[in-house]
Formats: sequence, structure tokens, C-alpha cells
Amino acid sequence: MESTDVRQARIDLHQQPFMVFWEVTRACDLVCRHCRAEAQPWRHPAELSLSEALRVLDDFAPARPLLVLTGGDCFKRADLEDIARAAVERRIPVAVSPSPTPLVTQERLARLYEIGVRVASLSLDGASPATFDAFRGVPGTFETALRIWAWFRAIGYKVQINTTVTRFNVRELPAIARMVMERGAMTWSLFFLVRTGRGRTLRDLSAQAYEDVMHWLYDVGHWISAKTTEGHHFKRVVLQRRACEVEGRPWRSTLPTGRLYEYLAEQWAALQPGPPRERILRPPMHVNSGHGILFIDHVGSVYPSGFLPIPCGNVRVTPPLTIYREHPLFRRLRQPETWRSRCGRCEFRHVCGGSRSRAYALRGSPFAADPRCTYRPGRPPVERRVHAEVP
Ligand code: SF4
Repeated sequence: MESTDVRQARIDLHQQPFMVFWEVTRACDLVCRHCRAEAQPWRHPAELSLSEALRVLDDFAPARPLLVLTGGDCFKRADLEDIARAAVERRIPVAVSPSPTPLVTQERLARLYEIGVRVASLSLDGASPATFDAFRGVPGTFETALRIWAWFRAIGYKVQINTTVTRFNVRELPAIARMVMERGAMTWSLFFLVRTGRGRTLRDLSAQAYEDVMHWLYDVGHWISAKTTEGHHFKRVVLQRRACEVEGRPWRSTLPTGRLYEYLAEQWAALQPGPPRERILRPPMHVNSGHGILFIDHVGSVYPSGFLPIPCGNVRVTPPLTIYREHPLFRRLRQPETWRSRCGRCEFRHVCGGSRSRAYALRGSPFAADPRCTYRPGRPPVERRVHAEVP
């Protein structure tokens, strides 16, 4: 097994984040069932102003993290282009993550591309209008999303398609993957539910179902680039599957899967995706809440991630890089060996670490074990080089 099976950032993650998610507004015209932000149609009067936004960008300029302008719906802000331009002028790479609504026009997307924005993401939680529109709460959203996806591709954006996985849509994953293959995307990211915001009311998958989806996602990674958000133990699954491949061990008899895996694999085979590549296309990256990731909300509060609602300061008072480096919660999130939990004892804690957001949402502590991981430390196959290669 090579260390490239899980990619490591080439920067010191104790000093600077790899990615910053910035909720430039909480306003949004959709009413998605899982919405972390519980977004409303109206902008908050205390949102960060453009001049405050520029100060935040000045602080990030020496670190140059990937900046994702998100929301709510970032297209609700008329000065989105000004923020994006200021970031590009500071040589900070920028991505936009609009909600699929009529506010997204081809002209506005082209303008952002001219400014220098090169990456865009889009949510697709179903393979049909019936599923997707019900999930997003507004009829016609499926068609709007497909139109925006086509514009992204025509303009030249690198596209990330995001799919939130719930009991509601899990059986449509193969059909969505097929859409990603046919319509083209840089990567497909499965968001595993964190029961926070409006997502509190949704029924989550079981831990075994997570395992099944992640093993299937590993398979699909031989056709399309696939990753997870708040599904950190996918990195453990990747390492285990690679260990089986390298050692010539049949993975099905080593790593237990359930009926959901069978279903997803059968559906995927029935869609005839063609021959797989030898290796998965883009190995997942080791970043986690507060460890490579920082989130700023619409009024400037800073969090280790958008799904972990423990405020650690405000950019109006403290520069965000200072919060990232010095706040005790951020520091401890980067020290998994100090967590007194299964994730803290786990061999994979430095590459996985589990979802700190889900631990907080379901167990009340950001250092608790991820309740949706079935792994118990010490189970085979545990690749010795996991210890040797990862600090
Ligand atoms: S026990 Fe925790 S650290 Fe270990 S694989 Fe599971 S989620 Fe990751």
C-alpha cells in the first residue's frame, strides 16, 4: 500500500487551513430538508459587510487556502463578484457553491469565471425530479440544477457534484453516479448526514449501511472520482481495501458488508458503466473539522466546520487564522490521541478521525467516537504503514 491511498496536504495543518468554507449569507430561496443553516429567504442585517470581508481575505492572503463561497445561497449577495475578485487579487483560489435556483444565470457564472473562479459545486440529491424536488422543497429544482450543471461545463468550471445521503435517496445513488459519469464532473462528493439544523428531523442510515455505501463508493471510484464529506471513515475503508488488494486477500470475506452493498453493486452493474480503471481515480484527502478546515458563518462567527456548531470566536474581533491556530477546540481537534474515545484509540485516527460533527450531534462531545463507524480498533486488516507514514 502506498501513502498516496489517502492524500496528505503539503502544508502544516497546525498553522493554516487547507480549505475555508465561508457562508457569505444565510439567505436562500430553497427549503432543503437537511439544511444545516436552517436558511431563510431574507439576508440577515448583521451579515459581514464587503469591507469586513476584505479584512478577512487580507488575513488569509499569506496562507492561500481554497476558499469556498457558500451559504445559504451565495448568489443572494449582489457583491459576490466583488468578494471573489478581491480573493483572486490576493491569489487565494476560489470556488462557488450556489443553490440551484433561478438566481444562477449563465451571465453571472461567466462573469465569475472571467474574474478567476475555476471551481463550482452543485447539489444533486436525487436522479429524478420526484426525489430531488421533494428533498429541496421547491418544484422545478431538478431541472434548474441540470441547466446550471450544463452551464458550468460549457463555461469551463471544474465541477463538484454533492449528494447528501439519507434513507430517502440511498437507493438512487447508482443512478446519480451514472449521471455524474455521463454529464461530467471533476468529483462526486457524498455528504453523510449530520443531524443538525433542519437535518435533526431526518432519519439517518445505520452504521452498517454507512459501511455498505462506502465500500460501494470505493468500487465506483474506479470509474469516477468520488469522495465523502462528514464520512471520514471512507479513508479507513480505502486503506483496508487497498491492504486487501496488496496482500491478495479477498476483501469480501475480510470486511463484512450487508444487503445494501449487494443492492447498490447490482444496480451499478445493471447500468453497465464499462470497464473499471485499475486504481481509484482520486484518493481522498486527510482533512477534518478544525484540522485543515475552518468555517465562517454569515455574521463572522468561526467554527471548526459548518456542521459543528461550537463557536470559537468572531472575525470582527479576532483574525480567523489566529482562531484556527490558537483556539483550544481547534488545537485539540488536531490531537486525536487526547480524545478519550474509540476514535482516539483507533489505528486510523490520524487519517480518519471520524466525524467530529456527528460525534457532537449524537453524543454531545466533539471528541466522542463517530457513532456511524462499525470499526473496532485492532481488527484486521490494519496496514502497519498507517502508523509509519502518517504523523
Ligand atoms: S473508529 Fe473512528 S477513527 Fe477509527 S475508523 Fe472509525 S471513525 Fe475512523
